Amino acid sequence: MVRTLFPVFPSHNSARQPRSARLRGVSGSLLLSCTLMSQTEFRTPKGTHDVLPEDHQYMTYIKKAVRHRCRQAGYKRIDTPMFEHRAIFERGIGAHTDIVEKELFLVSGSKREGGEDAAPVFALRPEFTAGICRSYIEHGMQQLPQPVELYAIGQCFRHDRPQKGRYRQFHQFDLEVIGLRDPSLDAQLIHVLKNILSDIKIFSRLTLQINNIGQPESRKAFADALKDYFIGKERHLPEIDRNRLESNPMRLLDSKEEDTQILVKNAPKLSQFVSEESKQYHETVLEYLTALGVPYMENASLVRGLDYYTQTVFEFWDQSTGAQNAVGGGGRYDGLIELLGGKPTPGVGFAGGLERMIWHMKEAGVTVPNKDQVDVFVAQLGPEAKKQCLTLVSELREKGVHTVGALGEASLKSQMRLADKFQSRYTLLLGKMEVKHSTIILRDMQAGKQKEMKLADVIPEVIKLLGKENLDTYVLRDHIGDVDED
Ligand code: AMP
Repeated sequence: MVRTLFPVFPSHNSARQPRSARLRGVSGSLLLSCTLMSQTEFRTPKGTHDVLPEDHQYMTYIKKAVRHRCRQAGYKRIDTPMFEHRAIFERGIGAHTDIVEKELFLVSGSKREGGEDAAPVFALRPEFTAGICRSYIEHGMQQLPQPVELYAIGQCFRHDRPQKGRYRQFHQFDLEVIGLRDPSLDAQLIHVLKNILSDIKIFSRLTLQINNIGQPESRKAFADALKDYFIGKERHLPEIDRNRLESNPMRLLDSKEEDTQILVKNAPKLSQFVSEESKQYHETVLEYLTALGVPYMENASLVRGLDYYTQTVFEFWDQSTGAQNAVGGGGRYDGLIELLGGKPTPGVGFAGGLERMIWHMKEAGVTVPNKDQVDVFVAQLGPEAKKQCLTLVSELREKGVHTVGALGEASLKSQMRLADKFQSRYTLLLGKMEVKHSTIILRDMQAGKQKEMKLADVIPEVIKLLGKENLDTYVLRDHIGDVDED
């Protein structure tokens, strides 16, 4: 059985379409078919998946949108280590949050250092914010003009119970704006996200849920009031929420448990404890969002799971399933940097899950450019032909033509069959006779027609047929933005 993360599109012979159409948007066929999947001894660990070429097209597309929109708004890319001292997450995210309490992937030192027996000092990052704030402090970024706007794209790890849309290793993109507290920054950040989600054509499937959870003092007072309210009612709470009532009572607000939801209806409201200043802050964020044309839904139950949030919190929910499979969320964390040992420094950020976004794109029928197509397959017969083909293949590639060939010793007929399987648009055939006469056969696989021509003329001819504008060339200096960075 093939395990794929997302529904697989039917295979598509892109060679049957003009290249421009292929570039416009076709998802290629999945490399592995049921019959090809071998019975391997090893499989991906539970909750992890391979990102196969088909999904990489989606991933590249999302990353491009992120890079583009981030650069437009002045963000700079940062990469922090995939593992950090676990205390960064424990202190930053909060010891009593699900992420830290249940889902942290702990990393021991090496066997050599006796790390196997020692208590793990490190943890794989479950999210980016805490690591980026650590980096902000470590590299003295408070000396830079504020706010410092950073973005990151990469893997995160949570030892969660795997289920649809919930993995142990997944990809996030993350935006952080550190060093200034201004409602316009919250609104601008959300506007950048709206643009990214619109670029990948899923914004219309989502709703922006937004709330203001106030300052830590208000939350403390609210948490105390909640605890008081639940005195005598604890036994009606499911065990998970009874524990939360002790460790992190705010989490009861967005509990998925029905009994809790019923009890919470008559509980004190967070809004009763939020200060006038926070309310004003919230109103201003909403006003700015309206000015920027970003639709939102106010949601008084939205608290987000992590301790570090203050004031604005928001999530992008799937319109049909709501909170369950949010594609991303974020908020303001004005106390986090101080918690991690820095000077008091405000910040606001967001993280979105690429796997869930890809799922939405596929559900919405969004197609992405497939740039992995083979333009030319070069078939050859005999040692001399093979040698000539090698240079031909390399020259074609240099000109930006996607070329495969000079492979194996099979007959021309079976090489042609291979060219068909590679879905190449053209095939070049070089046999013993052609070598002798310095000619080559150019076959149009779509039309099923072929012609013999001078070897010296074949590269310009292929370029003419494909169209110069479709060649895969770039000059690093001029087109750095188009390079498929990781
Ligand atoms: P969070 O900060 O926990 O709300 O995570 C931000 C986003 O990351 C979520 O909205 C998801 O899109 C994604 N995400 C979080 N945890 C997982 C997971 N275990 N598997 C896949 N995606 C996840």
